[in-house]
Amino acid sequence: MRYSHYLLNTLKETPADAEVISHQLMMRAGMIRKVAAGIYNYLPLGLRSIRKVERIVREEMDRSGAIELLMPMVVPAELWQESGRWEQYGKELLRFKDRKEADFCLGPTHEEVITDIVRREVKSYRQVPLNLYQIQGKFRDEIRPRFGLMRGREFIMKDAYSFDLDEAGADVAYDKMYQAYRRIFERCGLRFRAVEADTGNIGGTASHEFMVLAASGEDAIVSCDSCQYAANVEKAELRDPGQAAPAPAQPLQRVLTPARKSIEDVALFLETATERLVKTLILQTDTGETVAVLLRGDRELNDIKLTRLLGCNWVELAPEEVVLRVTGAPSGFAGPVGLQLRLLADFEVRGMADFIVGANEKDAHLTGANLGRDFSVETFADLRQAVAGDGCPRCAGKLESWRGIEVGHVFKLGTKYSAALGATVLDEKGEERTLFMGCYGIGVGRTVAAAIEQNNDANGIIWPMPIAPFQVIVTMVNPKEDEVRLAAEKLYEELLALGVEALLDDRDERPGSKFKDADLIGIPLRVTVGARGLKEGALELQERRSGERTMLPVAETARLLAERVRQALEN
Ligand SMILES: [Zn+2]
Repeated sequence: MRYSHYLLNTLKETPADAEVISHQLMMRAGMIRKVAAGIYNYLPLGLRSIRKVERIVREEMDRSGAIELLMPMVVPAELWQESGRWEQYGKELLRFKDRKEADFCLGPTHEEVITDIVRREVKSYRQVPLNLYQIQGKFRDEIRPRFGLMRGREFIMKDAYSFDLDEAGADVAYDKMYQAYRRIFERCGLRFRAVEADTGNIGGTASHEFMVLAASGEDAIVSCDSCQYAANVEKAELRDPGQAAPAPAQPLQRVLTPARKSIEDVALFLETATERLVKTLILQTDTGETVAVLLRGDRELNDIKLTRLLGCNWVELAPEEVVLRVTGAPSGFAGPVGLQLRLLADFEVRGMADFIVGANEKDAHLTGANLGRDFSVETFADLRQAVAGDGCPRCAGKLESWRGIEVGHVFKLGTKYSAALGATVLDEKGEERTLFMGCYGIGVGRTVAAAIEQNNDANGIIWPMPIAPFQVIVTMVNPKEDEVRLAAEKLYEELLALGVEALLDDRDERPGSKFKDADLIGIPLRVTVGARGLKEGALELQERRSGERTMLPVAETARLLAERVRQALEN
Protein backbone atom coordinates (compact mmCIF):
# COMPACT_ATOMS: atom_id res chain seq x y z
CA MET A 1 0.00 0.00 0.00
CA ARG A 2 1.21 3.48 -0.85
CA TYR A 3 0.73 5.89 2.03
CA SER A 4 0.15 8.82 -0.38
CA HIS A 5 -2.91 7.04 -1.79
CA TYR A 6 -4.13 5.47 1.44
CA LEU A 7 -6.85 6.79 3.76
CA LEU A 8 -4.66 7.27 6.80
CA ASN A 9 -4.68 10.48 8.80
CA THR A 10 -2.82 10.51 12.08
CA LEU A 11 -3.65 13.01 14.81
CA LYS A 12 -1.10 14.93 16.86
CA GLU A 13 -3.52 15.68 19.66
CA THR A 14 -5.23 13.12 21.83
CA PRO A 15 -9.03 13.47 21.52
CA ALA A 16 -10.45 14.85 24.76
CA ASP A 17 -13.04 12.08 25.20
CA ALA A 18 -10.51 9.23 24.85
CA GLU A 19 -9.79 8.06 28.40
CA VAL A 20 -7.84 4.85 27.85
CA ILE A 21 -4.65 4.38 25.90
CA SER A 22 -6.08 2.02 23.26
CA HIS A 23 -8.86 4.47 22.47
CA GLN A 24 -6.39 7.36 22.29
CA LEU A 25 -3.96 5.48 20.07
CA MET A 26 -6.61 4.03 17.76
CA MET A 27 -7.93 7.55 17.20
CA ARG A 28 -4.47 9.08 16.80
CA ALA A 29 -3.27 6.31 14.47
CA GLY A 30 -6.30 6.84 12.24
CA MET A 31 -7.72 3.35 12.88
CA ILE A 32 -11.19 4.35 14.02
CA ARG A 33 -13.45 7.40 13.97
CA LYS A 34 -16.49 7.99 16.15
CA VAL A 35 -19.89 8.15 14.45
CA ALA A 36 -22.01 8.36 17.62
CA ALA A 37 -21.47 7.41 21.26
CA GLY A 38 -20.06 3.86 21.28
CA ILE A 39 -20.38 3.54 17.49
CA TYR A 40 -17.31 3.72 15.26
CA ASN A 41 -16.14 3.62 11.68
CA TYR A 42 -13.32 1.14 11.21
CA LEU A 43 -11.00 2.98 8.86
CA PRO A 44 -8.74 0.97 6.52
CA LEU A 45 -5.78 0.66 8.91
CA GLY A 46 -8.00 -0.42 11.81
CA LEU A 47 -9.93 -2.85 9.66
CA ARG A 48 -6.70 -4.63 8.66
CA SER A 49 -5.99 -5.59 12.29
CA ILE A 50 -9.63 -6.52 12.88
CA ARG A 51 -9.55 -8.81 9.84
CA LYS A 52 -6.33 -10.45 11.03
CA VAL A 53 -7.86 -11.31 14.39
CA GLU A 54 -10.96 -12.60 12.58
CA ARG A 55 -8.85 -14.79 10.33
CA ILE A 56 -7.04 -16.38 13.28
CA VAL A 57 -10.36 -16.89 15.08
CA ARG A 58 -11.93 -18.44 12.00
CA GLU A 59 -9.02 -20.78 11.35
CA GLU A 60 -8.96 -22.05 14.92
CA MET A 61 -12.74 -22.41 15.13
CA ASP A 62 -12.76 -24.39 11.89
CA ARG A 63 -9.86 -26.50 13.12
CA SER A 64 -11.80 -27.35 16.29
CA GLY A 65 -14.67 -28.65 14.16
CA ALA A 66 -16.99 -25.66 14.59
CA ILE A 67 -19.03 -24.62 11.55
CA GLU A 68 -19.54 -21.02 10.43
CA LEU A 69 -22.92 -19.53 9.62
CA LEU A 70 -24.40 -16.05 9.81
CA MET A 71 -27.49 -14.95 11.68
CA PRO A 72 -29.33 -11.64 11.29
CA MET A 73 -28.57 -8.69 13.50
CA VAL A 74 -32.29 -7.80 13.59
CA VAL A 75 -34.17 -10.35 15.66
CA PRO A 76 -37.96 -10.69 16.10
CA ALA A 77 -39.27 -10.25 19.65
CA GLU A 78 -41.03 -13.65 19.63
CA LEU A 79 -37.78 -15.56 20.01
CA TRP A 80 -36.73 -13.45 22.97
CA GLN A 81 -40.20 -13.80 24.46
CA GLU A 82 -39.91 -17.58 24.26
CA SER A 83 -36.72 -17.56 26.34
CA GLY A 84 -38.16 -14.99 28.73
CA ARG A 85 -35.35 -12.56 28.04
CA TRP A 86 -37.54 -9.98 26.27
CA GLU A 87 -38.77 -9.00 29.76
CA GLN A 88 -35.63 -9.85 31.76
CA TYR A 89 -33.01 -8.12 29.64
CA GLY A 90 -32.62 -4.50 30.60
CA LYS A 91 -32.36 -1.40 28.47
CA GLU A 92 -29.18 -2.70 26.88
CA LEU A 93 -31.48 -4.54 24.49
CA LEU A 94 -32.33 -2.03 21.78
CA ARG A 95 -35.98 -2.68 20.95
CA PHE A 96 -37.91 -1.16 18.07
CA LYS A 97 -40.94 -1.68 15.84
CA ASP A 98 -41.02 -2.21 12.10
CA ARG A 99 -43.60 -0.54 9.78
CA LYS A 100 -46.19 -3.19 10.68
CA GLU A 101 -45.79 -2.39 14.38
CA ALA A 102 -44.09 -5.74 15.03
CA ASP A 103 -41.47 -5.79 17.82
CA PHE A 104 -37.82 -6.42 17.02
CA CYS A 105 -34.46 -5.98 18.73
CA LEU A 106 -30.86 -5.62 17.66
CA GLY A 107 -29.16 -8.83 18.81
CA PRO A 108 -26.62 -8.37 21.60
CA THR A 109 -26.13 -12.17 21.69
CA HIS A 110 -27.77 -14.99 19.73
CA GLU A 111 -28.72 -17.91 21.99
CA GLU A 112 -32.37 -17.65 20.97
CA VAL A 113 -31.75 -17.43 17.23
CA ILE A 114 -29.28 -20.32 17.15
CA THR A 115 -31.54 -22.49 19.32
CA ASP A 116 -34.38 -21.76 16.91
CA ILE A 117 -32.22 -22.92 13.99
CA VAL A 118 -31.24 -26.10 15.78
CA ARG A 119 -34.76 -27.04 16.87
CA ARG A 120 -35.89 -26.79 13.24
CA GLU A 121 -32.90 -28.45 11.56
CA VAL A 122 -31.62 -30.99 14.07
CA LYS A 123 -33.93 -33.90 14.85
CA SER A 124 -31.70 -36.89 15.50
CA TYR A 125 -28.87 -37.76 17.89
CA ARG A 126 -26.84 -38.53 14.76
CA GLN A 127 -26.66 -34.80 13.95
CA VAL A 128 -24.86 -33.90 17.19
CA PRO A 129 -22.37 -32.91 18.49
CA LEU A 130 -22.71 -29.64 16.65
CA ASN A 131 -20.90 -26.35 17.18
CA LEU A 132 -22.04 -23.35 15.12
CA TYR A 133 -20.38 -19.96 15.07
CA GLN A 134 -20.55 -16.58 13.42
CA ILE A 135 -18.49 -13.40 13.31
CA GLN A 136 -20.88 -10.51 13.33
CA GLY A 137 -21.67 -6.97 14.43
CA LYS A 138 -23.63 -6.89 17.67
CA PHE A 139 -25.41 -4.12 19.49
CA ARG A 140 -25.71 -3.49 23.21
CA ASP A 141 -27.19 -0.19 24.26
CA GLU A 142 -24.67 0.55 27.03
CA ILE A 143 -25.75 3.32 29.37
CA ARG A 144 -22.27 4.79 29.32
CA PRO A 145 -20.31 3.69 26.28
CA ARG A 146 -16.66 4.61 26.61
CA PHE A 147 -13.10 3.49 26.11
CA GLY A 148 -13.47 3.27 22.32
CA LEU A 149 -13.70 -0.33 21.15
CA MET A 150 -13.33 -1.59 24.73
CA ARG A 151 -16.93 -0.81 25.61
CA GLY A 152 -18.74 0.26 22.50
CA ARG A 153 -22.42 -0.15 21.73
CA GLU A 154 -21.87 -1.70 18.32
CA PHE A 155 -19.07 -4.25 18.31
CA ILE A 156 -17.75 -7.17 16.28
CA MET A 157 -17.95 -10.48 18.02
CA LYS A 158 -17.36 -14.14 17.34
CA ASP A 159 -20.06 -16.16 19.05
CA ALA A 160 -20.23 -19.94 19.00
CA TYR A 161 -22.86 -22.31 20.38
CA SER A 162 -22.40 -26.01 20.96
CA PHE A 163 -25.16 -28.65 21.10
CA ASP A 164 -24.68 -32.07 22.63
CA LEU A 165 -26.79 -35.02 23.64
CA ASP A 166 -25.65 -35.03 27.26
CA GLU A 167 -23.52 -33.26 29.80
CA ALA A 168 -20.45 -35.39 29.09
CA GLY A 169 -20.65 -34.36 25.45
CA ALA A 170 -21.02 -30.72 26.47
CA ASP A 171 -17.86 -31.08 28.58
CA VAL A 172 -15.93 -32.28 25.54
CA ALA A 173 -17.26 -29.37 23.45
CA TYR A 174 -16.26 -26.95 26.20
CA ASP A 175 -12.76 -28.33 26.41
CA LYS A 176 -12.32 -28.08 22.65
CA MET A 177 -13.31 -24.41 22.78
CA TYR A 178 -11.03 -23.78 25.74
CA GLN A 179 -8.09 -25.21 23.77
CA ALA A 180 -9.08 -23.30 20.61
CA TYR A 181 -9.20 -20.05 22.60
CA ARG A 182 -5.74 -20.66 24.01
CA ARG A 183 -4.43 -21.16 20.47
CA ILE A 184 -6.24 -18.05 19.21
CA PHE A 185 -4.74 -15.69 21.77
CA GLU A 186 -1.32 -17.31 21.49
CA ARG A 187 -1.45 -16.88 17.72
CA CYS A 188 -2.44 -13.22 18.14
CA GLY A 189 0.87 -12.79 19.98
CA LEU A 190 -0.77 -11.76 23.26
CA ARG A 191 0.11 -12.50 26.87
CA PHE A 192 -3.07 -13.78 28.49
CA ARG A 193 -4.53 -16.00 31.18
CA ALA A 194 -7.61 -18.22 31.14
CA VAL A 195 -9.29 -17.28 34.37
CA GLU A 196 -11.88 -19.34 36.23
CA ALA A 197 -15.02 -17.27 36.28
CA ASP A 198 -18.26 -17.29 38.22
CA THR A 199 -20.95 -19.38 36.59
CA GLY A 200 -23.52 -17.04 38.12
CA ASN A 201 -27.08 -18.23 38.57
CA ILE A 202 -27.24 -20.14 35.28
CA GLY A 203 -25.45 -22.97 36.98
CA GLY A 204 -23.26 -25.33 35.02
CA THR A 205 -19.89 -26.52 36.13
CA ALA A 206 -17.43 -24.32 34.36
CA SER A 207 -16.80 -20.92 32.91
CA HIS A 208 -13.52 -19.30 31.93
CA GLU A 209 -12.72 -15.76 30.97
CA PHE A 210 -9.74 -15.13 28.73
CA MET A 211 -7.87 -12.10 29.98
CA VAL A 212 -5.22 -10.17 28.09
CA LEU A 213 -2.68 -8.97 30.65
CA ALA A 214 -2.27 -5.20 30.75
CA ALA A 215 -1.50 -2.78 33.55
CA SER A 216 -4.60 -0.81 32.58
CA GLY A 217 -6.93 -3.83 32.82
CA GLU A 218 -10.19 -3.51 34.75
CA ASP A 219 -9.93 -6.92 36.42
CA ALA A 220 -7.48 -7.89 39.14
CA ILE A 221 -6.41 -11.49 38.63
CA VAL A 222 -3.94 -13.94 40.09
CA SER A 223 -2.29 -16.82 38.28
CA CYS A 224 0.05 -19.61 39.27
CA ASP A 225 3.69 -19.38 38.25
CA SER A 226 3.87 -23.12 37.55
CA CYS A 227 0.46 -24.45 36.51
CA GLN A 228 -2.43 -23.01 34.47
CA TYR A 229 -4.52 -21.98 37.47
CA ALA A 230 -5.74 -18.39 37.20
CA ALA A 231 -8.70 -16.62 38.77
CA ASN A 232 -10.20 -13.26 39.47
CA VAL A 233 -8.91 -12.02 42.80
CA GLU A 234 -12.48 -12.10 44.12
CA LYS A 235 -12.73 -15.76 43.23
CA ALA A 236 -9.20 -17.06 43.81
CA GLU A 237 -9.23 -19.89 46.30
CA LEU A 238 -6.53 -20.19 48.91
CA ARG A 239 -5.63 -23.51 50.44
CA ASP A 240 -5.56 -24.08 54.18
CA PRO A 241 -1.91 -23.55 55.13
CA GLY A 242 -2.59 -26.18 57.79
CA GLN A 243 -0.20 -24.62 60.26
CA ALA A 244 -0.72 -25.29 63.94
CA ALA A 245 -0.08 -22.36 66.23
CA PRO A 246 3.06 -22.48 68.36
CA ALA A 247 2.42 -22.73 72.12
CA PRO A 248 1.56 -19.39 73.77
CA ALA A 249 4.67 -17.69 75.15
CA GLN A 250 3.18 -14.41 76.34
CA PRO A 251 0.49 -13.59 78.88
CA LEU A 252 -2.55 -11.66 77.74
CA GLN A 253 -1.82 -8.02 78.51
CA ARG A 254 -3.82 -4.83 78.13
CA VAL A 255 -1.95 -1.92 76.57
CA LEU A 256 -3.10 1.63 75.97
CA THR A 257 -3.30 2.72 72.32
CA PRO A 258 -4.79 6.21 72.57
CA ALA A 259 -6.59 7.21 69.37
CA ARG A 260 -4.77 4.49 67.43
CA LYS A 261 -7.59 2.93 65.47
CA SER A 262 -6.15 1.66 62.23
CA ILE A 263 -4.04 -1.49 62.02
CA GLU A 264 -1.12 0.56 60.68
CA ASP A 265 -1.34 3.11 63.49
CA VAL A 266 -1.50 0.44 66.19
CA ALA A 267 1.44 -1.48 64.68
CA LEU A 268 3.49 1.69 64.45
CA PHE A 269 2.61 2.73 67.99
CA LEU A 270 3.48 -0.71 69.43
CA GLU A 271 6.58 -0.91 67.22
CA THR A 272 5.58 -4.12 65.51
CA ALA A 273 4.53 -5.35 62.07
CA THR A 274 0.90 -5.43 60.89
CA GLU A 275 1.28 -9.23 60.47
CA ARG A 276 1.51 -9.49 64.26
CA LEU A 277 -1.99 -8.09 64.62
CA VAL A 278 -5.30 -9.84 64.14
CA LYS A 279 -8.11 -7.58 63.04
CA THR A 280 -11.67 -8.16 64.11
CA LEU A 281 -14.25 -7.05 61.59
CA ILE A 282 -17.81 -6.63 62.83
CA LEU A 283 -20.13 -7.34 59.91
CA GLN A 284 -23.83 -7.44 59.21
CA THR A 285 -25.60 -9.64 56.70
CA ASP A 286 -28.71 -9.03 54.63
CA THR A 287 -30.39 -11.66 56.82
CA GLY A 288 -29.92 -9.44 59.87
CA GLU A 289 -27.10 -11.43 61.46
CA THR A 290 -24.07 -9.76 63.07
CA VAL A 291 -20.81 -11.73 62.97
CA ALA A 292 -17.15 -11.11 63.76
CA VAL A 293 -14.41 -12.14 61.33
CA LEU A 294 -10.73 -12.43 62.24
CA LEU A 295 -8.01 -11.80 59.68
CA ARG A 296 -4.29 -11.30 59.92
CA GLY A 297 -3.67 -7.55 60.23
CA ASP A 298 -2.28 -7.04 56.72
CA ARG A 299 -5.01 -9.05 54.95
CA GLU A 300 -8.26 -8.00 53.26
CA LEU A 301 -11.60 -9.70 53.67
CA ASN A 302 -13.08 -11.32 50.56
CA ASP A 303 -16.80 -10.52 50.81
CA ILE A 304 -17.79 -13.15 48.26
CA LYS A 305 -16.16 -15.97 50.20
CA LEU A 306 -17.79 -14.84 53.45
CA THR A 307 -21.18 -14.46 51.77
CA ARG A 308 -20.93 -17.97 50.41
CA LEU A 309 -19.89 -19.38 53.79
CA LEU A 310 -22.79 -17.67 55.56
CA GLY A 311 -25.29 -18.44 52.79
CA CYS A 312 -26.46 -14.84 52.58
CA ASN A 313 -26.61 -12.32 49.71
CA TRP A 314 -24.31 -9.65 51.01
CA VAL A 315 -22.30 -8.53 54.02
CA GLU A 316 -21.26 -5.05 55.05
CA LEU A 317 -19.31 -3.46 57.87
CA ALA A 318 -21.64 -2.87 60.80
CA PRO A 319 -22.50 0.77 61.49
CA GLU A 320 -20.85 2.55 64.40
CA GLU A 321 -23.81 2.17 66.79
CA VAL A 322 -23.86 -1.60 66.30
CA VAL A 323 -20.09 -1.85 66.88
CA LEU A 324 -20.52 0.19 70.05
CA ARG A 325 -23.35 -2.03 71.24
CA VAL A 326 -21.71 -5.41 70.56
CA THR A 327 -18.12 -4.56 71.56
CA GLY A 328 -18.65 -1.78 74.08
CA ALA A 329 -16.13 0.38 72.23
CA PRO A 330 -16.01 2.60 69.16
CA SER A 331 -14.82 0.94 65.95
CA GLY A 332 -11.08 0.35 65.78
CA PHE A 333 -10.87 -1.43 69.12
CA ALA A 334 -12.90 -4.62 68.53
CA GLY A 335 -11.30 -7.90 69.56
CA PRO A 336 -12.25 -11.57 70.00
CA VAL A 337 -11.57 -11.88 73.73
CA GLY A 338 -14.88 -11.88 75.58
CA LEU A 339 -16.83 -10.97 72.45
CA GLN A 340 -20.36 -12.37 72.47
CA LEU A 341 -20.71 -12.86 68.71
CA ARG A 342 -20.46 -15.67 66.20
CA LEU A 343 -16.72 -15.74 65.53
CA LEU A 344 -15.24 -16.79 62.17
CA ALA A 345 -11.58 -16.67 61.22
CA ASP A 346 -9.42 -17.01 58.16
CA PHE A 347 -7.31 -20.20 58.00
CA GLU A 348 -4.16 -18.19 58.48
CA VAL A 349 -5.13 -17.03 61.96
CA ARG A 350 -5.05 -20.65 63.16
CA GLY A 351 -1.27 -20.67 62.76
CA MET A 352 -0.69 -17.50 64.82
CA ALA A 353 0.31 -17.10 68.47
CA ASP A 354 0.96 -14.17 70.82
CA PHE A 355 -0.75 -11.67 68.55
CA ILE A 356 -2.34 -8.27 69.16
CA VAL A 357 -6.08 -7.70 69.11
CA GLY A 358 -8.50 -4.94 70.09
CA ALA A 359 -9.54 -4.93 73.76
CA ASN A 360 -13.22 -4.06 73.18
CA GLU A 361 -12.47 -0.90 75.07
CA LYS A 362 -11.76 2.61 73.77
CA ASP A 363 -8.03 3.34 73.33
CA ALA A 364 -6.88 -0.13 74.36
CA HIS A 365 -5.53 -3.32 72.75
CA LEU A 366 -4.43 -6.70 74.07
CA THR A 367 -1.01 -8.19 73.38
CA GLY A 368 -0.12 -11.86 73.77
CA ALA A 369 -3.54 -13.03 72.61
CA ASN A 370 -3.81 -16.76 71.84
CA LEU A 371 -6.43 -19.00 70.32
CA GLY A 372 -7.88 -21.62 72.62
CA ARG A 373 -6.45 -20.08 75.76
CA ASP A 374 -8.10 -16.64 75.45
CA PHE A 375 -11.01 -17.22 73.06
CA SER A 376 -12.30 -19.76 70.59
CA VAL A 377 -13.40 -19.54 66.99
CA GLU A 378 -16.50 -21.28 65.61
CA THR A 379 -15.22 -21.80 62.04
CA PHE A 380 -11.92 -21.43 60.22
CA ALA A 381 -12.27 -20.91 56.48
CA ASP A 382 -10.74 -19.33 53.39
CA LEU A 383 -11.99 -15.78 53.89
CA ARG A 384 -9.32 -13.43 52.65
CA GLN A 385 -8.38 -11.86 49.36
CA ALA A 386 -5.56 -13.61 47.48
CA VAL A 387 -2.35 -11.64 46.92
CA ALA A 388 0.87 -12.21 44.98
CA GLY A 389 3.06 -14.73 46.75
CA ASP A 390 0.19 -16.85 48.10
CA GLY A 391 0.33 -20.58 47.40
CA CYS A 392 -1.52 -21.95 44.36
CA PRO A 393 -4.65 -23.94 45.34
CA ARG A 394 -3.87 -26.56 42.67
CA CYS A 395 -0.14 -27.15 42.96
CA ALA A 396 2.93 -26.16 44.96
CA GLY A 397 3.43 -23.01 42.87
CA LYS A 398 3.03 -19.40 43.93
CA LEU A 399 0.44 -16.91 42.78
CA GLU A 400 1.38 -13.84 40.76
CA SER A 401 -0.93 -10.88 40.42
CA TRP A 402 -1.91 -9.11 37.21
CA ARG A 403 -4.49 -6.85 35.75
CA GLY A 404 -6.44 -8.16 32.80
CA ILE A 405 -8.89 -7.21 30.06
CA GLU A 406 -11.56 -9.77 29.25
CA VAL A 407 -11.49 -10.64 25.55
CA GLY A 408 -13.15 -14.05 25.52
CA HIS A 409 -15.57 -16.08 27.58
CA VAL A 410 -16.46 -19.77 27.43
CA PHE A 411 -19.54 -20.90 29.27
CA LYS A 412 -21.54 -24.06 29.85
CA LEU A 413 -25.18 -23.18 29.42
CA GLY A 414 -26.80 -26.50 30.24
CA THR A 415 -30.40 -26.70 28.95
CA LYS A 416 -31.60 -23.19 29.79
CA TYR A 417 -32.31 -22.18 26.18
CA SER A 418 -32.84 -25.61 24.65
CA ALA A 419 -35.52 -26.39 27.26
CA ALA A 420 -37.21 -22.99 26.88
CA LEU A 421 -37.33 -23.23 23.08
CA GLY A 422 -37.77 -26.98 22.82
CA ALA A 423 -34.52 -27.93 21.07
CA THR A 424 -34.70 -31.71 21.38
CA VAL A 425 -33.56 -34.72 19.40
CA LEU A 426 -34.56 -38.36 19.37
CA ASP A 427 -31.89 -40.61 20.86
CA GLU A 428 -31.00 -44.18 19.80
CA LYS A 429 -34.05 -45.53 21.63
CA GLY A 430 -36.34 -43.02 19.97
CA GLU A 431 -36.71 -41.03 23.17
CA GLU A 432 -36.79 -37.26 23.15
CA ARG A 433 -33.72 -35.58 24.70
CA THR A 434 -33.16 -31.90 25.43
CA LEU A 435 -29.81 -30.75 24.04
CA PHE A 436 -27.01 -29.47 26.27
CA MET A 437 -25.55 -26.18 25.16
CA GLY A 438 -22.40 -24.16 25.58
CA CYS A 439 -21.71 -20.61 24.40
CA TYR A 440 -18.37 -19.12 23.55
CA GLY A 441 -17.64 -15.49 22.73
CA ILE A 442 -14.65 -13.46 21.59
CA GLY A 443 -14.75 -9.69 21.28
CA VAL A 444 -12.84 -9.11 18.06
CA GLY A 445 -12.52 -5.32 18.29
CA ARG A 446 -11.89 -5.62 21.99
CA THR A 447 -9.02 -8.03 21.30
CA VAL A 448 -7.42 -5.45 19.01
CA ALA A 449 -7.89 -2.75 21.68
CA ALA A 450 -6.51 -5.04 24.40
CA ALA A 451 -3.49 -5.80 22.22
CA ILE A 452 -2.78 -2.05 22.14
CA GLU A 453 -3.31 -1.73 25.91
CA GLN A 454 -0.69 -4.44 26.33
CA ASN A 455 1.71 -3.23 23.65
CA ASN A 456 2.45 0.49 23.53
CA ASP A 457 4.95 3.11 24.60
CA ALA A 458 5.13 6.91 24.68
CA ASN A 459 5.48 7.01 20.89
CA GLY A 460 2.49 4.86 20.04
CA ILE A 461 1.37 1.33 19.30
CA ILE A 462 3.78 -1.63 19.18
CA TRP A 463 1.93 -4.33 17.22
CA PRO A 464 2.59 -8.01 17.74
CA MET A 465 3.49 -9.18 14.22
CA PRO A 466 0.47 -11.51 13.75
CA ILE A 467 -2.10 -8.72 14.05
CA ALA A 468 -0.11 -5.72 12.81
CA PRO A 469 -1.98 -3.90 10.03
CA PHE A 470 1.25 -3.95 8.00
CA GLN A 471 4.38 -5.94 8.72
CA VAL A 472 6.94 -3.54 7.24
CA ILE A 473 6.93 0.18 6.55
CA VAL A 474 9.35 1.48 3.93
CA THR A 475 10.12 5.13 4.65
CA MET A 476 11.49 7.29 1.83
CA VAL A 477 13.59 10.02 3.39
CA ASN A 478 13.11 12.32 0.41
CA PRO A 479 10.87 11.12 -2.44
CA LYS A 480 12.04 14.02 -4.62
CA GLU A 481 15.44 12.39 -4.99
CA ASP A 482 15.16 9.99 -7.91
CA GLU A 483 17.70 7.56 -6.54
CA VAL A 484 15.84 7.33 -3.22
CA ARG A 485 12.42 7.03 -4.81
CA LEU A 486 13.52 4.31 -7.24
CA ALA A 487 15.31 2.29 -4.55
CA ALA A 488 12.31 2.50 -2.22
CA GLU A 489 9.87 1.56 -4.99
CA LYS A 490 12.06 -1.39 -5.91
CA LEU A 491 12.26 -2.61 -2.32
CA TYR A 492 8.51 -2.19 -1.93
CA GLU A 493 7.84 -4.28 -5.06
CA GLU A 494 10.27 -6.95 -3.91
CA LEU A 495 8.58 -7.14 -0.51
CA LEU A 496 5.15 -7.53 -2.09
CA ALA A 497 6.51 -10.24 -4.37
CA LEU A 498 7.79 -12.09 -1.28
CA GLY A 499 4.35 -11.90 0.32
CA VAL A 500 5.31 -9.25 2.89
CA GLU A 501 2.57 -6.78 3.82
CA ALA A 502 4.35 -3.50 3.24
CA LEU A 503 3.33 0.13 3.53
CA LEU A 504 5.41 2.50 1.40
CA ASP A 505 5.64 5.95 2.96
CA ASP A 506 6.04 7.94 -0.26
CA ARG A 507 4.51 11.15 1.13
CA ASP A 508 6.14 14.48 0.53
CA GLU A 509 6.67 15.11 4.25
CA ARG A 510 9.60 15.84 6.52
CA PRO A 511 11.44 12.62 7.50
CA GLY A 512 10.90 13.43 11.20
CA SER A 513 7.14 13.41 10.89
CA LYS A 514 7.24 10.21 8.82
CA PHE A 515 9.23 8.49 11.55
CA LYS A 516 6.77 9.77 14.16
CA ASP A 517 3.83 8.40 12.21
CA ALA A 518 5.56 5.04 11.71
CA ASP A 519 6.09 4.79 15.47
CA LEU A 520 2.53 5.90 16.21
CA ILE A 521 0.87 3.35 13.93
CA GLY A 522 3.29 0.78 15.33
CA ILE A 523 4.42 -1.22 12.28
CA PRO A 524 6.87 -3.83 13.66
CA LEU A 525 9.68 -3.26 11.13
CA ARG A 526 10.67 0.07 9.57
CA VAL A 527 13.23 0.33 6.85
CA THR A 528 14.57 3.74 5.90
CA VAL A 529 15.62 4.50 2.35
CA GLY A 530 17.84 7.60 2.22
CA ALA A 531 20.60 8.99 0.02
CA ARG A 532 23.30 8.55 2.63
CA GLY A 533 22.62 4.85 3.21
CA LEU A 534 22.31 4.16 -0.49
CA LYS A 535 25.79 5.60 -1.08
CA GLU A 536 27.12 2.99 1.33
CA GLY A 537 24.94 0.30 -0.22
CA ALA A 538 22.92 -0.21 2.95
CA LEU A 539 19.45 0.45 4.34
CA GLU A 540 18.64 0.97 7.98
CA LEU A 541 16.18 -1.39 9.65
CA GLN A 542 14.66 -0.27 12.92
CA GLU A 543 12.63 -2.60 15.07
CA ARG A 544 9.63 -0.89 16.62
CA ARG A 545 9.62 -2.84 19.89
CA SER A 546 13.32 -2.84 20.78
CA GLY A 547 14.33 0.29 18.86
CA GLU A 548 17.28 -1.77 17.65
CA ARG A 549 18.85 -0.56 14.39
CA THR A 550 20.64 -2.75 11.86
CA MET A 551 22.17 -1.89 8.48
CA LEU A 552 21.12 -4.27 5.73
CA PRO A 553 22.81 -4.60 2.33
CA VAL A 554 20.47 -3.09 -0.28
CA ALA A 555 20.35 -6.18 -2.46
CA GLU A 556 19.54 -8.42 0.52
CA THR A 557 17.07 -6.18 2.31
CA ALA A 558 13.81 -7.61 0.98
CA ARG A 559 14.85 -11.19 1.59
CA LEU A 560 16.10 -10.43 5.12
CA LEU A 561 12.90 -8.56 5.99
CA ALA A 562 10.77 -11.41 4.70
CA GLU A 563 12.82 -13.74 6.87
CA ARG A 564 12.29 -11.54 9.96
CA VAL A 565 8.56 -11.42 9.36
CA ARG A 566 8.40 -15.18 8.98
CA GLN A 567 10.33 -15.69 12.22
CA ALA A 568 8.12 -13.26 14.11
CA LEU A 569 5.00 -15.04 12.90
CA GLU A 570 6.35 -18.39 14.00
CA ASN A 571 7.19 -17.29 17.52
ZN1 LIG B 1 -0.45 -24.03 40.40
